Amino acid sequence: MSRTRCQDSAQKADSAIYKALLESTKAIPWKLDWHSMEFVYIGPQIEQILGWSPESWVTIDDWANRMHPDDRHWVVDFCVSQSREGADHEADYRALTKSGEYRWIRDVVHVMRDEDGNVEALVGFMFDIHERKRTELELVRLQKELEALSYKDGLTGVANRRMFDETLAEEWAGARRHRQPLSLILLDIDFFKQYNDHFGHVQGDESLRQVAQALAGAATRPRDFVARYGGEEFVLVLPETDARAAHLIAERCRNQIFKLQIAHPLSAVSQVLTVSLGLGTRIPGHGDEPTAFLRQVDECLYNAKQQGRNRLVSLA
Ligand code: GH3
Ligand code: MG
Ligand code: MG
Repeated sequence: MSRTRCQDSAQKADSAIYKALLESTKAIPWKLDWHSMEFVYIGPQIEQILGWSPESWVTIDDWANRMHPDDRHWVVDFCVSQSREGADHEADYRALTKSGEYRWIRDVVHVMRDEDGNVEALVGFMFDIHERKRTELELVRLQKELEALSYKDGLTGVANRRMFDETLAEEWAGARRHRQPLSLILLDIDFFKQYNDHFGHVQGDESLRQVAQALAGAATRPRDFVARYGGEEFVLVLPETDARAAHLIAERCRNQIFKLQIAHPLSAVSQVLTVSLGLGTRIPGHGDEPTAFLRQVDECLYNAKQQGRNRLVSLA
């Protein structure tokens, strides 16, 4: 055998090895000619992973059109511009399968240039990352859910104390910046211990839920905020609400709770469940602290209790 024939057969053997390696990988190898924008090679794995026959994968449009419409625009733009600059890159997108579903693919692209440095072809691998991506997305969803839950009161479904603390701090700062009045209502169910003693905790819990819903119904503007402050106490943060408007909302709260007509035989002030309320309105000045304001509104609530309960006391 001559030397060249020997080299030829060695090369053939090498190609066979490369081809076998390429086509046994659990990814789809491909090569795109940059001038014609046609695939000169697509691995047979495409049939197994996406259902498309290699023969049906001809031009760059076959790739772009078989992509989720929400991904197509940015993926095509990104890949084309990166390739034009000669930069290797990768992109995750949802590829359409022949049966009409979408699978997450990670396309890893290497740019090949000719001797003059011009882009000649793109080669790459399409990795099937569907399961991993699904787990990742599920994790993100769960994290968001967990985050939402960490701001929610488990019993009543309204915001919890933690969310209240953050909301008050934010709205206080906003009100100070824009010189807007901020109103705060603290309310506490009257003789709730006796209610529990009489009806039991399970019914006590149910009444807390009803009260929370009534309050959510009383505060109707988008930024109005209702939270369970703790136990049988609730709080409303009312941004851009002056004393007069806040007074109306506080009365609406009392009214809505009265309308629930929750029987309370052991209450010393009514035959139905009632609440006492403290209310304050402030345009926060420089150096004013929300905690001091909260304490003052709490004193109003205390006075409402002292003055006989089932009433509203406003901060002067
Ligand atoms: P006041 O009119 O002075 O507010 O009297 P009160 O009995 O409402 O106040 P007190 O602070 O003595 O008791 C509050 C009661 O609220 C005690 C507790 O049994 C009840 N409570 C607090 N949290 C919950 C809860 O999550 N579920 C139930 N069912 N009851 C609760
Ligand atoms: Mg209380
Ligand atoms: Mg109470």
